[in-house]
Amino acid sequence: MKTVDLRSDTVTQPTPAMREAMLAAPLGDDVFGDDPSVIALQQRIAALTGKDAALFMPTGTQSNLCALMAHCERGDEYLVGQNAHTYRYEGGGAAVLGSIQPQPLVQDAKGQMSLADIAAAIKPDDSHFARTRLLALENTWNGQRMTMDYLQQASSLARQHGLAVHLDGARVMNAAVDQAAVYGSDVFSELRTICDLFDSVSVCFSKGLGAPVGSALCGSKALIQKAHRARKMLGGGMRQSGVLAAAALHALDHHVHRLSQDHMLAKRLADGLRGLPGLTVRSAQTNIVFVDVAEGLGLALLEYLKKANVLATGLLGLRFVTHLDVDEAGIDHAIACVKDFLESANRPVSANAGSGGPY
Ligand SMILES: *Cc1c(COP(=O)(O)O)cnc(C)c1O
Repeated sequence: MKTVDLRSDTVTQPTPAMREAMLAAPLGDDVFGDDPSVIALQQRIAALTGKDAALFMPTGTQSNLCALMAHCERGDEYLVGQNAHTYRYEGGGAAVLGSIQPQPLVQDAKGQMSLADIAAAIKPDDSHFARTRLLALENTWNGQRMTMDYLQQASSLARQHGLAVHLDGARVMNAAVDQAAVYGSDVFSELRTICDLFDSVSVCFSKGLGAPVGSALCGSKALIQKAHRARKMLGGGMRQSGVLAAAALHALDHHVHRLSQDHMLAKRLADGLRGLPGLTVRSAQTNIVFVDVAEGLGLALLEYLKKANVLATGLLGLRFVTHLDVDEAGIDHAIACVKDFLESANRPVSANAGSGGPY
């Protein structure tokens, strides 16, 4: 049986139609600025996010770092969630490569930093302190969509203090699709409404959108010019990258609205697992389902699933991500496998099957 790979929405393979689009893409040399497919993609994503300019990037990590380096100078500071991707999962790039001091702040279960904490962390203009320049938010965060209320309050607080605001919108399309479903509105107008609150937005094409590679940073012309310099310095100047941009353009044409299917599958999985003994399903708002498992069961469950061709990640909290390359049958198979495992694990003889020690 085909592997049901729920480790991440990055595992998708380009579809045959996407490969055709890549094959047919007109190409140039993007370091000379004359790759027509890259230019088309940059114009397209800038328009969709309501920004003046955009820059195609090899990864979301580089896109976020270029944004930080465009907003902040050496010795400046940015405010960021303690568990935000830009702070926790990008190798400390802001500090290492940008000489930018991160000021991490506690996040609640929804990923929100409190407004009071944000305000208190903004340093006065005094030679003792780094210069606080930027607030960075993430949407979706752990698969949860940030409310417009919170985004508005946080960004206007930052603005009142003269800070710029950056959105790590690796999965902002998932947020827009979910928001459009909740309010019965248009996906791209929701995307605009979200992005209007930010000076810069980084969007991944390589997650739920299903492109093999690539992200884009969107912002004002002046900001994108600074980011362009940073991208070159960081080694992200690519040549016939139109072959990749074509995949991203194809994704924007064909893979945005279908994200709602990923969200439905995540809900199907969450509903199928909810209430099973030893499992606590946390909310599955978009395409990521987190499941807390009773101590000692996580590793054994993952091993069991792997033997049944179901892949997931995590230890105490398991993570399942839906995407383009999973379907209803795959999700039902995953649910059935978890049930089988729990039934066997609950039999006294194998009660200790998963006690692999502290992990
Ligand atoms: C995936 C991701 C990124 C960027 O990751 P890359 O692997 O460098 O493309 C940034 N932020 C968030 C929230 C992500 O999920």
